[in-house]
Amino acid sequence: MTSRSAAAAARATVHGYPRQGPNRELKKAIEGYWKGRVGADALRTTAAGLRRDNWQQLAGAGVHEVPTGDFSYYDHVLDTSVMVGAIPARHRAAVAADPLDGYFAMARGTQDVAPLEMTKWFDTNYHYLVPELGPDTVFAADSGQQVGQLTEALGLGLAARPVLVGPVTYLLLAKPAPGVAAGFDPLTLLDRLLPVYAEVLADLRAAGADWVQLDEPALVQDRSPAVLNAAARAYRDLGTLTDRPQLLVASYFDRLGEALPVLAKAPVEGLALDFTGAAAGNLKDLAAVGGLPGKRLIAGVVNGRNVWINHYEKSLATLGTLLGLAGRVDVSSSCSLLHVPLDTGAERDIDPQIARWLAFARQKTTEIVTLARGLARGTDTIAAELAANRADLSSRAGSALTHDPAVRSRAAAVTDADGRRSQPYAERAAAQRAHLGLPLLPTTTIGSFPQTAELRTARAELRAGRLDAEGYEERISAEIREVLAFQEKAGIDVLVHGEPERNDMVQYFAEQLTGYLATQHGWVQSYGTRYVRPPILAGDISRPGPMTVRWTRYAQSLTERPVKGMLTGPVTMLAWSFVRDDQPLGDTARQVALALRDEVNDLEAAGTSVIQVDEPALRETLPLRAAGHAEYLAWATEAFRLTTGGVRPDTQIHTHMCYAEFGDILRAIEHLDADVISLEAARSHMQVASELATAGYPREVGPGVYDIHSPRVPDVAEATALLRKGLDAIPAERLWVNPDCGLKTRGWPEVRAALENLVAAAREIRGSL
Ligand code: GLN
Ligand code: ZN
Repeated sequence: MTSRSAAAAARATVHGYPRQGPNRELKKAIEGYWKGRVGADALRTTAAGLRRDNWQQLAGAGVHEVPTGDFSYYDHVLDTSVMVGAIPARHRAAVAADPLDGYFAMARGTQDVAPLEMTKWFDTNYHYLVPELGPDTVFAADSGQQVGQLTEALGLGLAARPVLVGPVTYLLLAKPAPGVAAGFDPLTLLDRLLPVYAEVLADLRAAGADWVQLDEPALVQDRSPAVLNAAARAYRDLGTLTDRPQLLVASYFDRLGEALPVLAKAPVEGLALDFTGAAAGNLKDLAAVGGLPGKRLIAGVVNGRNVWINHYEKSLATLGTLLGLAGRVDVSSSCSLLHVPLDTGAERDIDPQIARWLAFARQKTTEIVTLARGLARGTDTIAAELAANRADLSSRAGSALTHDPAVRSRAAAVTDADGRRSQPYAERAAAQRAHLGLPLLPTTTIGSFPQTAELRTARAELRAGRLDAEGYEERISAEIREVLAFQEKAGIDVLVHGEPERNDMVQYFAEQLTGYLATQHGWVQSYGTRYVRPPILAGDISRPGPMTVRWTRYAQSLTERPVKGMLTGPVTMLAWSFVRDDQPLGDTARQVALALRDEVNDLEAAGTSVIQVDEPALRETLPLRAAGHAEYLAWATEAFRLTTGGVRPDTQIHTHMCYAEFGDILRAIEHLDADVISLEAARSHMQVASELATAGYPREVGPGVYDIHSPRVPDVAEATALLRKGLDAIPAERLWVNPDCGLKTRGWPEVRAALENLVAAAREIRGSL
């Protein structure tokens, strides 16, 4: 095909669409089903209706080929486990008895069986259920769900393309099943898995699929030659099948890198590549491998992970270049639109001028269709859209919200000294010891106490106007008094106010910072039926006034013991928000850090001697490829240091992280220069303590001794045993006693008992030292 005819053939598509429906109908139906209020048939009908509405809406907007199989009751990786028959032994009876209930048992567990483990889908905030595989795994094809959804879409008279998790990514995301040696490599199952994919592909072909998309995002990470060989083998095998649809291998979230030549050479008919953000390098890489002559390229030029309008002229330039590099070029989102909210049209509180800068799933669909039309029929056919796009982009670039001179000049004036505490750690530690007078093995908590139904009700009543601000604040103060009284009585050394006033650890701050936008309906799936509404970092960030000082000071007024001030750190503020795409992430982080620095300094001035800056997201936003790590860690640590660098030596800075896998970021954690770090350790039996010790981590550490993800209460003996293990690695002068994480999801009876046991364990050990 010439590039002109390639252009004329350009079509619009998307990789996947939000599942929940305009009013989170899916969540309501599924949760209703769990509670027994909604029958299985009613759930299926709701789900089918949502799929139909999505497809019709996509087609109505001008999408030529709709995705199918991207819909899920819980998670598409779990659906893939069902499709290939990888049902863990402990769930087989439940699945055999009732496939739907068995499916939810795998997702959520039951009284008797544990669910599959859940973890983050690459560097997004979506979580998938980890396949459990072993040498004895027997795969068996079950194409029912894929065929069913395809049949529904074809029945509506639409061109449809089933989307499946590809076999290599599926295996790379899996882990050894319980009881299987940790060294087991799921990728060794590839030869057993491919015939199952072959069967599914044949079934989809028989059901009318012209094209099938196999998603291989795991190939955008640094991969060994062995993995690249496995990918080559997989697509050679699937590509040389006779009874199959045309195959499109999709990648997203970063460049394909070394995997690009492998897939370009494979006997498949098309590739989908991401051309946004860090993945833009795909353009150069594609030219370097000689393009995809005669093949279909689906060009992901509309970012499927951010909330900003597309830059049409840039996208058209990319698409124009791509025309010379492939047989046919179609336009799509960079990845599934699952990661963005549904519709900006539902937002009533966002200034209409600013709303024009935003594009959620519906608006992104329109952008894709517009770009495909411009490509196919010439840019003069989209002249009006181009003009409007230009105007919106320049309104954003020129707005006072995105360019606050005071914020910019302050950020530009930052020096290394701002991020440096005035004394080295050893001297600070001595000053803090003198100032705080804490016992050995001091006890503390991570910040939140149970978010009771009463607190949530009070917040709902405040929003609905049934409770006035004064009444609400009285309930918050009462809660703080109770939390303080309990901690004093239990004998905890460093107290917290319990965070009862915070709906969410990011949103609470976002609502008080200038430059952040909140949405009313911007729900995004986090996992299963859990949806979050990430705030939007839209403009330059500043802090109109103190955010936490009042409640912290109130709590401190109730006790002689130190009350720890609690803040969410700059990296986590970015990680759990939608970020700007018009400046480097590091610039945004620096602005947030400066606002938080003022808060830290105000807390100190108000008499707070211990301040915790939580960074649970530090590890999760690490770039997918190692080449990006150094730059990321540089701005991330700078932001933390800027937040905390302005305090006196005798003010103790804590940080908290919710996980124990740090291999890649250990040095960076040291560079944060926090005085104390608390982390999750109860489940791994304090393993992290010995890892930190082995690595020579020189500061104070609080490895968690209470697993807050479980309703189990550790008794004194268990907590004592864990602490002794901690002491094997970390000297008593540097060991803290605390739970794994915040207590907001737990109930008061468990929390009371667990914390009393923690204090008893600390006392027992102090007595024996
Ligand atoms: N301070 C927060 C809390 O206790 C920390 C939560 C977190 O790290 N995820 O809830
Ligand atoms: Zn945590």
